[in-house]
Amino acid sequence: MSALSDLYQEIAVCQRCELAKYRTRAVPGEGSENAEIMFIGEAPGWHEDQQGRPFVGPAGQFLDKLLASIDLKREQVYITNVVKGRPPDNRDPLPTEIAACRKWLDRQIELICPKMVVTLGRYSMAMFFPGKSISKIHGTAQKRDNIIYYAMYHPAAALHQQSLRQAIEADILKIPPLLAEAKTMAEAEPQPQQLSMF
Ligand code: URA
Repeated sequence: MSALSDLYQEIAVCQRCELAKYRTRAVPGEGSENAEIMFIGEAPGWHEDQQGRPFVGPAGQFLDKLLASIDLKREQVYITNVVKGRPPDNRDPLPTEIAACRKWLDRQIELICPKMVVTLGRYSMAMFFPGKSISKIHGTAQKRDNIIYYAMYHPAAALHQQSLRQAIEADILKIPPLLAEAKTMAEAEPQPQQLSMF
């Protein structure tokens, strides 16, 4: 058993927040343990809750297409969410739920050691770019502690809004060149403590 599958077993029985009451299955995440890129979405939806796998509904199909546009298959990257249980009626995850789930995300980052963390949508963006606005920083990267953090719109939002779709299709194309310059990219200046939305 790998450390990652041990982690999945812990997540499967997690009772750290109310979402445990509503979920059919926990959705820990999936992909390569050696992935260079980790994508972090918001929360499982209906399809994900049924299957216990992240991004398998319409937004996931769009994410697969975006990955294909840079010659990647989902098995080559790692995909997870800010919270591992589906919020009832697909409501937004609450700050307390996000905080309760943070421990799992931190462990995943520690175990996978990605070169790049791609935030999908404003909830995961807020974790790594606190106080920023997605409309301003999508398509931009910051290297901190040897990881490149890169913000993108959420594929579900981009599916239905043409301007966001064009933005997300353009933003994903910047990932390969960013990865290629991972070693030489300068670390960002430490930011003064900003207020996060959590
Ligand atoms: N939206 C997300 O943020 N995550 C999923 O897994 C599916 C849809």
